[in-house]
Amino acid sequence: FKTLLEVKNLKTYYPVKGGFFRRTVANVKAVDDVSFEIKKGETLGLVGESGCGKSTTGRTILRLINPTDGQIIFDGKDITNIQGRALREARKDFQMVFQDPYASLNPMQMIGDIVSEPLKNFGKSNKKALKEEVMDLLNRVGLPEDAYEKYAHEFSGGQRQRIGIARALALKPKLIVADEPVSALDVSVQSQVLNLLKELQKDFGLTYLFIAHDLSVVKHMSDRIGVMYLGNIVEIADRNSIYNEPLHPYTQALISAIPEPDPRKSKERIVLKGDVPSPVNPPSGCPFHTRCPMAKEECSIAKPTLKEVRPGHQVACILYN
Ligand code: SF4
Ligand code: MG
Repeated sequence: FKTLLEVKNLKTYYPVKGGFFRRTVANVKAVDDVSFEIKKGETLGLVGESGCGKSTTGRTILRLINPTDGQIIFDGKDITNIQGRALREARKDFQMVFQDPYASLNPMQMIGDIVSEPLKNFGKSNKKALKEEVMDLLNRVGLPEDAYEKYAHEFSGGQRQRIGIARALALKPKLIVADEPVSALDVSVQSQVLNLLKELQKDFGLTYLFIAHDLSVVKHMSDRIGVMYLGNIVEIADRNSIYNEPLHPYTQALISAIPEPDPRKSKERIVLKGDVPSPVNPPSGCPFHTRCPMAKEECSIAKPTLKEVRPGHQVACILYN
């Protein structure tokens, strides 16, 4: 498998303005030195609690937010700082499916126009050909024929997300960043949308960065999983290793909180003390040391970096040095 996306030491900071002159007085370190890669055709899941930097990571990769530092290599091209025309052109190949299907569709536009918009933006203008292409897309994501002339409010949440997916597919992208694509939906329709995403991946040879806080959703979707805490990836491995042999104390706590239907298998839940510290002022050393049940004195001194401790399994924790 070839690498499609390579992210190296990515940092995305948001300035906090303050005082009379609205100067930058601090930075929210939303993404604070993240590195990973995604192979063509695979799904990398990104998990962590809200505010850990997953969405910002996804948006930075798609260049919806400018990175503060680091490098983004997409399909062999450095896209970290491209602007204007080059960025517009590159955007054909990477699309986003948003969390909230209610907010991400223009209520004043017909579905046919919403889905054909990206095609028009890239120069397709033949009306008949456009309509055919859009009808194909709507059909492919499981929407009825007459959806073309309807408006977003006429559809359920699950159907709206299908519309969002059709729009994302229109330009035949290589990478789709799906940011909590089912978390706003009823549990009963979640698996339908997830299965659709899986089918489309096979049919179109798509690569996914799949962001979610729900560990069972991520498990269903991902080949590999990265666990984020306070702007950092603290562990990354194939799906089974993350679920069956988590190494990082934070991953262990997350996994222990998944309800186990079989009472004979149930393990003790690891309850973390305290709250996630502010990303404006992250702790020194290991970002997790203020809550880690295994923390030692030296954990507050140097920040551990991701190290490969088994083939394909990386963890950032001094316990594995
Ligand atoms: Fe816990 Fe220390 Fe490992 Fe951080 S480096 S996860 S504080 S043991
Ligand atoms: Mg988010």
